[in-house]
Amino acid sequence: MNRRKFLQLGSLSAPLLLTKKTMANGFDETIKPIVVSTWDSGMAVNEAAWKILSLNGRALDAVEAGARQIEDTINCCVGLGGYPDRDGIVTLDSCIMDEQSNCGAVAGIERIKHPVSVARMVMEKTPHVILVGAGAQQFALENGFTLESTTLSDDARKAYEGWLKKSEYKPVINIENKKQNGPFAPNFFDDGSVNHDTMGLVAMDSSSNLSGAVTTSGMAFKVHGRVGDSPIIGAGLFVDNEIGAATSSGLGEEVIRICGTHLVVEFMRQGYDPETACKKAVERIVKRNPEKAKTLQVGFLALNKKGQYGAYAIQKGFVFSVKTDKENRIYPSKYML
Ligand code: ASP
Repeated sequence: MNRRKFLQLGSLSAPLLLTKKTMANGFDETIKPIVVSTWDSGMAVNEAAWKILSLNGRALDAVEAGARQIEDTINCCVGLGGYPDRDGIVTLDSCIMDEQSNCGAVAGIERIKHPVSVARMVMEKTPHVILVGAGAQQFALENGFTLESTTLSDDARKAYEGWLKKSEYKPVINIENKKQNGPFAPNFFDDGSVNHDTMGLVAMDSSSNLSGAVTTSGMAFKVHGRVGDSPIIGAGLFVDNEIGAATSSGLGEEVIRICGTHLVVEFMRQGYDPETACKKAVERIVKRNPEKAKTLQVGFLALNKKGQYGAYAIQKGFVFSVKTDKENRIYPSKYML
């Protein structure tokens, strides 16, 4: 066994050693508060979260505020302005998780503007974790949310009409065309169509508590009733206040198969830094089916208790946004293929 291999194995059984090494890597002090979000749309989301974090507010409130920000905008892939399923209906998925492993989610909810807040209400007002479809909507209406119109946003209507011409059911997601759309336009296919921009954000507040939230309209033109990773705790989002938190974007089915964000957090528990933890989860997807992996995208984003963050994706094009009192910027994720 060569020395490198020995050290790699050694680090698995001695996670503290690895942690120490990464601490020396520019992160000697805990960075907090901090919020990190998927995609470039995370910049505005982080701003909304920061309003709470910078006043020593709770990470849970911050991630809910961040998710609500993007739910309020017209975006291809989040909120009621998002792209519909193949029947022309916008269905939304969202989840939220706090520092005590409390969590709530809604899946396939229709005509409700802020699914993240319904998810929080599921967490706080019911003994359950996930409500779906008509039941989720009924719960929202009983708790003061209002029923919004079924009209598609102009963007969504145009995209849907374009899609209907071929009605091709292709659940392949977000292989980004950076040449055509610039370095931070990750949500376009080669043919110009847009298929994804799920918002996942995780934050640590000034009390060192972690929380996360995810909100999405899911895969564009999906089968009615399809649920991706985004509202599934352990797939699209996982928070463990001792270790860290992670979120994901990309083809949800692949993330669900490996319990992606739970896996990322478990890798961090073993001592891996956030980027390496994300990379190892990506490797798990690619290893299962290397040929299929070439045709799809998944990106993970993670934050640990030191305020270290990192991401990793299958393909080029995944980006994430970071806000602390020292930085406010978009980073390109490293990638495997
Ligand atoms: N993960 C989402 C889903 O599978 C899609 C996305 O990231 O945009 O529904």
